[in-house]
Amino acid sequence: MDALDILTDLENVIPFFQPIFSADEHRVIGYEVLGRYISENQLTSLGSFFQDDQIPEEYKFEVDQLLLVKALEKALESNEDFYIFLNRTADLLMYNHGEPFLNELLAFEKRGLNLQRIVLEISEQNYQGDINQLDHLLQYYRTYGIKIAIARIDSDSNYFDRIGQLEPDILKINLQVLKSTTTGTAFNDILFSLSLLARKIGATLLFENIEMEYQLHFAWKNGGRYYQGYYLSKPASEFIEHDLLKDRLKEKFHDFILYGKKRLESFYSTSDFFQVKVQEIILKSKKTSYEELFELLMKEMDQIAFRMYVCDEDGFQQSPNFFKGKDGWGIQKEYINKNWSWRPYFLENIFKMRNEKKGILSDLYSDIETGETTRTFSFPMNPTEFLFIDIAYNYLFEHDDLL
Ligand code: CA
Repeated sequence: MDALDILTDLENVIPFFQPIFSADEHRVIGYEVLGRYISENQLTSLGSFFQDDQIPEEYKFEVDQLLLVKALEKALESNEDFYIFLNRTADLLMYNHGEPFLNELLAFEKRGLNLQRIVLEISEQNYQGDINQLDHLLQYYRTYGIKIAIARIDSDSNYFDRIGQLEPDILKINLQVLKSTTTGTAFNDILFSLSLLARKIGATLLFENIEMEYQLHFAWKNGGRYYQGYYLSKPASEFIEHDLLKDRLKEKFHDFILYGKKRLESFYSTSDFFQVKVQEIILKSKKTSYEELFELLMKEMDQIAFRMYVCDEDGFQQSPNFFKGKDGWGIQKEYINKNWSWRPYFLENIFKMRNEKKGILSDLYSDIETGETTRTFSFPMNPTEFLFIDIAYNYLFEHDDLL
């Protein structure tokens, strides 16, 4: 596709709109505007045109601006109130200090378009300009109510730095990577952390490239409020009926909710099972010495645990580690007096156990020494002694609702 062909045939440059759905209303809340070019009855994406380094910026800007005008005209004609997601590279955004772009938006505002509906999807790929000037411009746009979304996770871009600097309104997460079966659990963990981060900074998560049901489920599980992808709706030249998928989405989410509840039920019943079991063992042992207590625990929890120890309420380890290696249970005395209060949730959990007089089954995490996926059951023996039992992966694997 030749750039000049496009530039001399601008009437065949048209915006396409890909619907974005929301989890809270199950309906379309916005559209991402995508560039298309029609030639000989064929539709081509303008993606490669915008990414081509050989094409001068003013050409790209002209096409971008035209798409903007055509898209906003269409939005103005529609009676619905929805977000308009506009893709902009940092370079094109900074074109002529960002003035022509803003002026165009302001012209539409005069005609009745609320600029709070505009979401700028910034791509900073290959941006060589001054990052401070860019941020300054974005903050200025924001004073008009324009929202900022950050899209890609480039391996070479400092994604987390940028999230911290820009505090975007929306984080767009590409689920394309989930298509590969080799996607490790680390990706899940990163997304989970991202969902916590988004919550902390008040950003909304939008998952894009959802092409299968399990990707929608994944997005829902990981705090996604907005969804976009072929599984839901393809880009088209017209807006769609906003309630089109309402029933289908409601049904899907109902399944996700049932599944989530089932997992929580098994989590709590396992937690209760450990509670009863450990309580019995502690009552049986007369608490004369840790050796005697752990003797019983090793017998009763042999197929369940791989590490056990007791800490005081400040996190100082009172007992040795009782650790099950390849050759069975052994004692690691060097752990006595180590302090674990620095661990996430440690003090919170001590207080929780003390207040509720009940044990806690932790979330899944990787053991720092063995690298294996584990959960910890912690139990208040009395107000100053807390028993910690790390659950063996095999046990979790056999009770796969726990994984
Ligand atoms: Ca985009």
